[in-house]
Amino acid sequence: MAKCVKCGSDDLRTKRQNGGGYGMNKLPLGKGRNATVAMDSTVCISCGNVELTVSSDDALAKIAETWGRA
Ligand SMILES: [Zn+2]
Repeated sequence: MAKCVKCGSDDLRTKRQNGGGYGMNKLPLGKGRNATVAMDSTVCISCGNVELTVSSDDALAKIAETWGRA
């Protein structure tokens, strides 16, 4: 079971984004169509911490290709 990185609570709720109309949970990948990747968001009900996760391997590969190293 996943735990909150901030407070350690396991009361987490997750919502998978599938490219709907809301742009909040999207990450820019580059120019053109399909230039964003949807992220899954997980919210800790205990402290309100939000985590965003990219779960698409294709998107991760693209990010590795096009983004600079931190
Ligand atoms: Zn928490």
